[in-house]
Amino acid sequence: MRIRVGHLYPEYLNIYADRGNIAVLARRAALRGHELDVTAISVGDGVRPGAHDLLYVGGGQDREQALIAPDLAAKGPAIRDAVADGTALLAVCGGYQLLGRGYTGRQGDDLPGVGLFPHETVAGERRMIGDVLLDCAWAGRTLAGFENHAGRTRLDADAEPLGRVVAGFGNDGDSGQEGCRAGRAVGTYLHGPLLPRNPWLADWLLSQALAHATGGEPPELEPLPDRLEAQAHAVSARRARDRGGRF
Ligand code: GLN
Repeated sequence: MRIRVGHLYPEYLNIYADRGNIAVLARRAALRGHELDVTAISVGDGVRPGAHDLLYVGGGQDREQALIAPDLAAKGPAIRDAVADGTALLAVCGGYQLLGRGYTGRQGDDLPGVGLFPHETVAGERRMIGDVLLDCAWAGRTLAGFENHAGRTRLDADAEPLGRVVAGFGNDGDSGQEGCRAGRAVGTYLHGPLLPRNPWLADWLLSQALAHATGGEPPELEPLPDRLEAQAHAVSARRARDRGGRF
């Protein structure tokens, strides 16, 4: 199967190896006989409804976020429609912030958001940096990664977090929540990149994207050995437990 991926602003939003998430999705798709067809979507490009099975956006500094935020907000209706029609989505850190209702930067500048995720972000004085470990009860799994953000993201009361913080800061350093889920869309502060050390989430995203591509149910993907991935997860989880969530 050809899996059509729209990579939003690859030249602006790509820090802490976020581009590596695309490489992992491509490799894991290929190992199951599928092909990832990645298109860059940048400033001035449109998002055609139904054209993508998966949308991806990485993280970025306040400066890069400010450069693309108005253009991304203008793509908001098309992105919300695409996800409502079953397109899967992964958004990391700066991209995750801008897929909420907005981000107020450290200079007090208000950046518009897409309003896909039910949250708002305001930058704080101290950056929240370090390894993170999450418990994702909805999947019976854990997620491990690295965070570095000034933004404090407040989810609406009825919003679904991606996970409960076991170690680390997470969305705001005190709610104990990290990330957000809305149907087939996932947002998170976790860099690293995220997917090499959390292959189950890569497979979950691929399965949702295949469901969009076929119009059917998310398929069960053939398991892979994932020995190195499991080791990387264990190391990251241990680092988070040892020193995550401390200024
Ligand atoms: N610039 C945003 C912040 O500082 C996002 C940073 C990032 O993507 N790592 O919170």
